[in-house]
Amino acid sequence: MFEKVLIANRGEIALRIIRACREMGISTVAIHSTADSNAMHVRMADESVCIGPPAIPQSYLNIPAIIAACEITGAEAIHPGYGFLSENARFAEIVKEHGITFIGPTSEHIRMMGDKITAIQAVKAVGIPTVPGSGGAVEDKDAAQVAARIGYPVLIKATAGGGGRGMRVAQTAADLALALSTARAEAKAAFGNDQVYMEKYLQKPRHIEIQVLADSQGHVIHLGERDCSLQRRHQKVWEEAGSPALNAQQRNDIGRVVTKALSKLGYLGAGTIEFLFEDGEFYFIEMNTRLQVEHPVTEAITGIDIVREQIRIAAGGALELHQSDVTFSGHAIECRINAENPFTFQPSPGTITQFHVPGGLGVRFDSAVYSGYRIPPYYDSMAGKLIVHARNRNECLLRLRRALDELVVGGIETTIPLFQHLVREKDIIDGEYNIHWLEQYLARLKAEKT
Ligand code: ADP
Repeated sequence: MFEKVLIANRGEIALRIIRACREMGISTVAIHSTADSNAMHVRMADESVCIGPPAIPQSYLNIPAIIAACEITGAEAIHPGYGFLSENARFAEIVKEHGITFIGPTSEHIRMMGDKITAIQAVKAVGIPTVPGSGGAVEDKDAAQVAARIGYPVLIKATAGGGGRGMRVAQTAADLALALSTARAEAKAAFGNDQVYMEKYLQKPRHIEIQVLADSQGHVIHLGERDCSLQRRHQKVWEEAGSPALNAQQRNDIGRVVTKALSKLGYLGAGTIEFLFEDGEFYFIEMNTRLQVEHPVTEAITGIDIVREQIRIAAGGALELHQSDVTFSGHAIECRINAENPFTFQPSPGTITQFHVPGGLGVRFDSAVYSGYRIPPYYDSMAGKLIVHARNRNECLLRLRRALDELVVGGIETTIPLFQHLVREKDIIDGEYNIHWLEQYLARLKAEKT
């Protein structure tokens, strides 16, 4: 096992990884920008290294500085967390070239899944169902023909996509040219690559994803699904395990398809296969080759520490669990508490004047903020994640209401009031929602206010 791990990240996920390391007897190195000198991850790690100024490209994406921090401190492995360099294949390669272990999959798999087209082709070849679509990059001159073959409405998506950017719907042929040029422009700005492809635009799907773990001995297991259908601008806001829409048979069936496929691909580490789910059918949209923000809901219902497993796998250890050892107990929900206006989602950076975290049975709060902490304007707006677990979904919703009412984050605006509304909505209580529900709900609220 490693003696020292460097965490190439900040915020709540850096803390999450430090906690797993500490329980495993591994010492930790935090990296930070000058804006994060007082950040919680720096305080909690055994050592820390300042790797640059506040701007992300000069600090948390500064590969030479991160490698140097590893060499100075003698860290043997790097955990990238999520975001930043976690899905950068070149970073994984450079880490390896320096004799350091990258806690994650191989650079080949990161690269394969990082491009949506190679990902779709790779998973299709190993038996995973995909969305009907172009199957490859689309040129402007062929777009009308491809769209007509798929059938409207179609979704134009950036092949380098991520974070819901570079995505546009064309409802009819008349919308196509504009949707195409907007998607390309957005993709170019966000990813420096304007290549796009096309998919059938599903009208009322849920977003359901499967968590997997694969070791270097070729064992692959799944930890069930998460339902992340409550989204705004294609970004997740609330996540559940399990999905209110899936039964045990459907869970086992898709789990079997996914584990078999990943075993054929020789995948290593933790990963998530994301699907759209409509009328009982699964359609692959992408694979994330890293730890996800919403992993705690899976931990809650399985009792498995996913970060610990990632570290053990990277150190060459075999999975201790067989598929038959994975059991699902109760229901869990996560709410992303962002430093934003709850209804317009305008960022609200500033100083947290009061901070009180809920407690009690089945309540977990993962966060890196504290009373008196000033949220820097340079990074993402997530102030914390509230995760609630109970014996069934109904009790989970009641516990979530109670926990949200206890939670106090003063001095800034947060998304807490939005969740206080959502837990009381009939469709949410009934589990009757799809990926469009939240946007429609927010539009309704806005209309009522004006
Ligand atoms: P990104 O990598 O940018 O997050 P994804 O492919 O994961 O892109 O899609 C993000 C979200 O966009 C999905 O969760 C879903 O809400 C929506 N989406 C993606 N593909 C489709 C589709 N074919 N039809 C309808 N909605 C889609």
